[in-house]
Amino acid sequence: MDWIERVDDDLVAQLTEWRRHLHANPELSFQEYETTEFISDLLTRWKIPHERPLDTGVVAHIRGSKPGPTVAMRCDIDALPITEENEFEFISTKPGVMHACGHDGHTAILLGVAKVLAELTSEIQGEVRLLFQPAEEVVASGARHFIEKGVVDGVDAIVGLHLMSAVDTGKISLGEGPIMASVDRFEIAVVGSGGHGAFPHQTIDPIVVASSLVTELQTLVSRRVDPLQPAVVTVGSFKGGDVFNVIPSRVELTGTTRTLDEGVRDLIHRELVKLAEGHAAANGAKAEIVYERGNPSLENDASLVKHLLPAARAVVGRENVIRVPPVMGGEDFAHYSRRMPSMFAFIGSRNPEIGSDFPHHHPRFTVDESALGIGLRYSLNVVERLASVGGGLPAGA
Ligand SMILES: [Zn+2]
Ligand SMILES: [Zn+2]
Repeated sequence: MDWIERVDDDLVAQLTEWRRHLHANPELSFQEYETTEFISDLLTRWKIPHERPLDTGVVAHIRGSKPGPTVAMRCDIDALPITEENEFEFISTKPGVMHACGHDGHTAILLGVAKVLAELTSEIQGEVRLLFQPAEEVVASGARHFIEKGVVDGVDAIVGLHLMSAVDTGKISLGEGPIMASVDRFEIAVVGSGGHGAFPHQTIDPIVVASSLVTELQTLVSRRVDPLQPAVVTVGSFKGGDVFNVIPSRVELTGTTRTLDEGVRDLIHRELVKLAEGHAAANGAKAEIVYERGNPSLENDASLVKHLLPAARAVVGRENVIRVPPVMGGEDFAHYSRRMPSMFAFIGSRNPEIGSDFPHHHPRFTVDESALGIGLRYSLNVVERLASVGGGLPAGA
């Protein structure tokens, strides 16, 4: 019997119920205490051994009756500092906090996987490790913290998924190679010398220096990076000065850089520092720079994708397994993908008829709940191919 045949209407209805409960009770990164309790209570009910390596988040171990590889499945459980503008009956009960990225759905799907697998241990070889990971949405990254705690020690391959409002419900996007970008953050303080707005010659005006620096930073992409390599440099904040007739001493910029290639990432890091320092110095000012490296770019292992494409096709049909182009958004699953063969899929949840076509992180974002069952069936198919008796990892992964 295929494992997905264990998914019936009752289970799909439960997924929806869990997702709605989580949606109504969102918690910010590293503060997912109630969410952690909720997950842990269900795992206890299903007699699945699990632990909490951090204050929040849960790691469950489903050990098969036969020896074999260890395969990990990961979901993220955190919400965002956004005030929800949806109007359905299970909207966030916490002002200013909202599941606006679909992590409520991811958690529900992985709970469904846990419930089914708990009854299948005799058919499992090796271990299936389920990672309910906190804090995907912050640069400090729950994935990084999980890895430091040894959560993926001994794991041979890891898979993850994201519900995606840019992809129609009923489609799954799966492709090898880079699919999401590295995420770095920078701060540049341009330090000049303030004074009277009427006597600029007696000052070093950091507003003028920082303004031209913003324009100069655009040349990193247009004149430093190979035109065939994707890269983004965005200045997201520019703060300086309080009064119309005073030249301030300091202007502070923050921004982000995104790349799909680690070599390009290193180049931008190096050149951004050089440019900011040189540009400030050429104008008599000083640049104080903090460059924080966040998620690396996310790459799918080619042999895993090849091995697991049939798992997706069996759920939605060959014609509905697509490959969307890489995006310059980031995903902290990339920290795992740098350490072991990994695969990350996008499960379509766009349905304009029910309003699930708002972009992620929008105050009216929501997921099409019919994608939850698709995500569950897909996940079970994947884990069956990797961890059932007779299944296994592809050669090369
Ligand atoms: Zn997000
Ligand atoms: Zn997300």
